[in-house]
Amino acid sequence: MITKIAHLGIAVRSIATARLVYEGALGLVCEGEEVVASQQVRTALFTVGDTHIELLEPTSPESPIAKFLDTKGEGIHHIAYATDNIDAQLQAAREQGLRLIHETPIIGAGGKRVAFLHPKSTSGVLTEFCEEENHRA
Ligand code: ZN
Repeated sequence: MITKIAHLGIAVRSIATARLVYEGALGLVCEGEEVVASQQVRTALFTVGDTHIELLEPTSPESPIAKFLDTKGEGIHHIAYATDNIDAQLQAAREQGLRLIHETPIIGAGGKRVAFLHPKSTSGVLTEFCEEENHRA
């Protein structure tokens, strides 16, 4: 079951530059930066109420974020929904005929299990499922 919007992902060329705005001008609190090897990105996570903004900077020209920046420029990259069971969520999406980018979850930022749906299946918005951390505890 989807429980909330976990975060909005925003593609940026430079987290250092973007932090001046999100932290400095907007006054959001940065929980920290992290390199996510599976996606070839550096992330910076900002708390906004009980959800987050996730800045994404490519760490390699092969990164999906580098390709996104090349074609679309900086901007909203994906919406991540928190789910209490990512395996069931993916199975339901599969049964509904949605196109999955990840057939099984990968390890995303914060060590969470995540998986992406293709934007062609979700009205043009790259969609992430993000398993809430307590589910498997
Ligand atoms: Zn994300």
